[in-house]
This record gives sequence, C-alpha cells and structure tokens, in this order.
Amino acid sequence: MKTVVIGSGFGGIAAALRMRAKGHDVTLLEKHDDLGGRARVFERNGFKFDGGPTVITAPYLIYELFEIFNKNPSDYISIKPLDIWYRFVFEDGFSFDYSGDENSMKEQIEKINKKDVNGYIKLVEFTKKIFNKGFTELSDVPFDKPIFMMKQLPALLNLKSYKSVYSLVSSYIENEKLRRILSMHPLLVGGNPFTTTSIYGLILYLEKKWGIHYSMGGTGAIIKGLEKLMVEEKIEIKKNSEATKFFTENGKINSLEINNSNKIYVDNVICNADPPNVYDQLVNSKKNSLFDWKRKRMDYSMGLFVYYFGTKKIYKNIAHHTIKFGNKYEEHLKDIFDKKKLNNDISYYLHRPTATDRSMAPVGNDCFYVLVPVPNNQSGINWTIEGEKMKNLVIEKMQRQLLPDLKENIVEDFYLTPDYFEKELNTKYGSGFSIQPKFSQSAYFRFHNKSEICKGLYFVGAGTHPGAGVPGVLSSAKVLDKII
Ligand SMILES: Cc1cc2nc3c(=O)[nH]c(=O)nc-3n(C[C@H](O)[C@H](O)[C@H](O)COP(=O)(O)OP(=O)(O)OC[C@H]3O[C@@H](n4cnc5c(N)ncnc54)[C@H](O)[C@@H]3O)c2cc1C
Repeated sequence: MKTVVIGSGFGGIAAALRMRAKGHDVTLLEKHDDLGGRARVFERNGFKFDGGPTVITAPYLIYELFEIFNKNPSDYISIKPLDIWYRFVFEDGFSFDYSGDENSMKEQIEKINKKDVNGYIKLVEFTKKIFNKGFTELSDVPFDKPIFMMKQLPALLNLKSYKSVYSLVSSYIENEKLRRILSMHPLLVGGNPFTTTSIYGLILYLEKKWGIHYSMGGTGAIIKGLEKLMVEEKIEIKKNSEATKFFTENGKINSLEINNSNKIYVDNVICNADPPNVYDQLVNSKKNSLFDWKRKRMDYSMGLFVYYFGTKKIYKNIAHHTIKFGNKYEEHLKDIFDKKKLNNDISYYLHRPTATDRSMAPVGNDCFYVLVPVPNNQSGINWTIEGEKMKNLVIEKMQRQLLPDLKENIVEDFYLTPDYFEKELNTKYGSGFSIQPKFSQSAYFRFHNKSEICKGLYFVGAGTHPGAGVPGVLSSAKVLDKII
C-alpha cells in the first residue's frame, strides 16, 4: 500500500509514523528543506528560535509515536514539566502565576476575590466533565457520519456548548482579571474566548491533567527525534518537495505531481497541508454543492505576528511563558476576529525558553519570541508596511512593561506576519490555526479526516477534527489510524 503524506507538521509526521506501523510504504513530502511546519526552528548566530509551539501538553501523545515501534521516547527526546505554567500580567502591573499547584492558585485567587476560590473549584470540576466527553471520548474518533454527530448533541448541550468559554467562566467567576485568565485557552487554538464554544474549556482541564511541559533543546528537538525515528523506520522523506497537482480516476486519487514535474502513483494521500487550500488548489473533483457551501461559509482563525529576538542582556526575572493583557482586550479581539483591523492596545504572549534551557542562546545572551494576534489576510493589510510598525509597537510595549532597556540590548531579530503563513506554509488567508474552533466548525462540521469528495484522500492537522494545537493534530493522526 503506497501512502504519501503531504506536509511535515506534527500531524503529518504522526500520520506517516502511524501508517508505517500498519505496514504501508510511506513517503513524506515537505515543501521546505526542513521539517516541522509551524514547529520549524530558525537558527541565527547561536540563537535557537522555535518557530511556533512552545507549550507542550499531553506529552503521552508524543511518546505513543515512539512506543508503537517499541522504542523508548527518552532515547530521542527529553520533555520536562514546568512549575509556573503562565505568568499573566495586566496593564496596572498586577501579575498572577498560573500553575498546577492548587494551593498557590487558591491563595492568589483569594487575594483578588475570596468568593472566586469556590467558583474556581466548581469551574475546574465542570471543565473535567467537558474534558471527559470532548477529549477522552471524542478527540480521536472519526466524525464523518452525521448520525454520529447527532448522537453527541444532547451531551454537548448538557455541557453548555451553546455558551462561549468566557461566558462559561463568568458564570463561576466574578473578578474580571480572573475571568480573562481562566478563559484565555481558545486563543491557543485560534479562537476568540468571547465567541468560541465552551467545549474548548476542556483545555483548562487538559493542562491540569498532564501539566505543561517544555522540550529540552526546544520543540524543534521533538521534531528532530521524530525525524530520526522516521528514518530508522524507513519512511522516505522528500524535502524541497511541494505537491502541486492531484490526479483522479473515477473519483479516486491515483497520482500526484511534485514541484510541477515528477509524478508519483499512490494508493492513499494524507494531507497535512491546510484543507481549504488543498481543496482550492490541488483537488480537481466533481462539484458537490453542499460541500462547496460548507467551505464558503467557513470562518478562519486569527493571523499571527511573531517577532523573534535575542538580547545581550539576561532578563532573569522573566518567566518562561508570559501573557500580557492590554486594557482593551475584548475590543482588541473583536477588531482582529470581526472587524479585521489592527488595534494598538495589543495583548501578547512572550516566550523566554532560556528561563528553562540556556542552550537556546549563546552564553550571556537571552532568547525570546513575542506573539501578537492580528487579523488574518482577509483584512487586506499590507504587511510590508504594517509589519515594521507592529515590531516597533511591540518593542515599545515590552520595554515599558516587562523588558527595560530592550531596544539597546537586541542583537538579533526578525519577524513573521500572516504573509509567511499564507505564502510559505500554504495556509488560506495566512491564518495561524486554519479554520476557527467554532461549534459550527467542529467535529462533523470541520473538514473531515476522510475527504468528503475524493476517494483515497485523507486529512490530518489543524483544519481537521479535532483541531489545532499539538495535542489536537496528534489526535487527528489517531483518528486516521481508525479510518484507514
Ligand atoms: C506561533 C505559534 C505558536 C503556537 N504555540 C503553540 C503551543 O505553544 N502549543 C501548542 O500545542 N500549539 C501551538 N501552536 C499551534 C500548533 O503549532 C499547530 O496547531 C500545529 O503545530 C499545526 O500542525 P499541523 O500538523 O497542522 O501542520 P503544520 O505545522 O501547519 O505544517 C504543515 C506543513 O505542510 C507543508 N505543506 C503545505 N502545503 C504543502 C504542499 N503542497 N506540499 C508539501 N508540503 C506542504 C508546510 O510547509 C508545513 O510544513 C502554535 C502555532 C503557532 C503558529
């Protein structure tokens, strides 16, 4: 059985390994000269910048990929739990260290609002129920039959899936700062906490269940470990190889073209590339008006502006993960998701891997990236102009709020905008996380793991069920394991 996987994000690599374990003859195609997709690594003058994912949750999903070949994960990768998960910082200087230490959580909550301690306990209990249904029961099973979706609806309604995550959290918590902290999780998978279905509240519990981890040497070290495993297991890896055309016969895919020249014959194609883009650019199947309608009405996740920088000063008081809320948080998100315009009162996420792992920067230096959610490219924003402005804005904010004298200490820097996600990673509208995690775009309503319109074509990754984030895309490969 000849199986070609297109794209080497976490989802594509996991699918390649799982199909290989079934005995398929697997080829992995990657457009770039390195693997990882959003998890690629950029190395510059001794600084190692993880391109995307930094927060590792549910590490067992990574370990499983080694274990299916009877390999010991610790021979390939080293994943360590973090004590402080996120440091949340507000404009007035208030900060909150979010962790798995329940005593510390309750003490900090009590200082802000005594009544919210009880609300927090009840909220965690409720998110456990959502987690049991949404993650344990449904995250790795196929959702390609409407009847299966219908069967889930009563339970999902019982779990208040009609509410947003923010509104669910607000029904337990009074204090506005705590509401923001405890409802921010949809942002990690490309959704607006004020509109994303409360089912995604399960991430709060998922973090509690397995903790938050860091991969020593960066997330890129996991990709390296998986690449080594793929080579050992005789998966053919073709870098600098972009799938440019599919060929079908009687509605079944039978071959594809690489870099507009080489043609290879296949039994199955598994796309880790963004499904809306694949359907727009590569699939040439018969029209299906229901499917076309589904595609047209889809909403896309936000775009990301990511500024990577190294400093000659060490900012030793900065935590590994900091989330800084702007005053106009809700308005900022509305501008990004609905109005598709920029807002100067930005909220941002600051990553400092050197807080845990000195190997990410040259001796005496510090390594960072800062991620600012921005509109995706449906906005029409000209990033060659706005990119530089955004860089200056975020430097000025970080210098005032977190990193004194930053400007004069930067020794290495570059940034990525939604243009990178659109042009380099082939993602529709340059969205950071493919289509949004809305109820009407989740499970059966998301792009199916088994193509709706073309036989022999399958999908893994952020745009398919269950969705974005490393645990999501690794689970999508488990779904495929059950389908193929
Ligand atoms: C800045 C950032 C920070 C993030 N932080 C976190 C985090 O802390 N924790 C977390 O869990 N998640 C995080 N995420 C989300 C997570 O990284 C993604 O959801 C996940 O990595 C996406 O994996 P994927 O399998 O969908 O593939 P992708 O990473 O999207 O990779 C797809 C690959 O397909 C390739 N490709 C596309 N078209 C073709 C073609 N035609 N031919 C050949 N190759 C092709 C691309 O080059 C790319 O390598 C973050 C994302 C970003 C962008």
